[in-house]
Amino acid sequence: MNLLLPLLAVLIGFGISYFIYQRSFTIKLLLAFSGSFLLSVTVLEFLPEIYIQGSSSIGIFILAGILLQIVLEYMSGGAEHGHFHISKEKNTFPYALFISLCIHAFLEGIPIHENKHLLYAVIVHKVPIAIIISSFLFNTKLSKFKIILFLLFFGIMTPLGSFVQANTTILDGIAVYLDAIVIGIFLHVSTTILFESSKDHKFNIYKFGVILLGIFLALAL
Ligand SMILES: [Zn+2]
Ligand SMILES: [Zn+2]
Repeated sequence: MNLLLPLLAVLIGFGISYFIYQRSFTIKLLLAFSGSFLLSVTVLEFLPEIYIQGSSSIGIFILAGILLQIVLEYMSGGAEHGHFHISKEKNTFPYALFISLCIHAFLEGIPIHENKHLLYAVIVHKVPIAIIISSFLFNTKLSKFKIILFLLFFGIMTPLGSFVQANTTILDGIAVYLDAIVIGIFLHVSTTILFESSKDHKFNIYKFGVILLGIFLALAL
């Protein structure tokens, strides 16, 4: 079940963007909420948990995660935090976007099989991202088949990360460092979402409300 939820999140996002009229303000609210919830769970639970494990190089790997996410966003144009800075005119398969999203999704799958709240945070984070990626892809000239293949592979990556972590010993020796890298990724993605959600830094009561809601929900869990 835990393996299926992240895939389900992508499919729900796809379904929403495909079948339901897309109200961009609602999606922006959902995005702001997901950013605040992900940041809160990371800071309140995930980060202290990893620091307690005590390796002195944890901080370095968190910084490495932030740098990795910055590099991934050069490739994806910002898709992991929910928007695109790239052109819709191309009809070639967007390999850089695809690879970047898959690396991001695989890595975020690694810590979530041991941490229920983090699993919820990643699912909440995936729904608006999947809505935005799907509606972007359907506005390009790519064939439907390629788009569905893209979304399926992207959807499978997070469960794959969890599966490899849970059922193999490959990652055992480096799991704590990978977790630290994922913390860096989450810190960068969630703060970017929050930063970009306040357009021109104009106060918006709804956005501020959902940001508070994300924090309170993480505190209540
Ligand atoms: Zn951006
Ligand atoms: Zn993500």
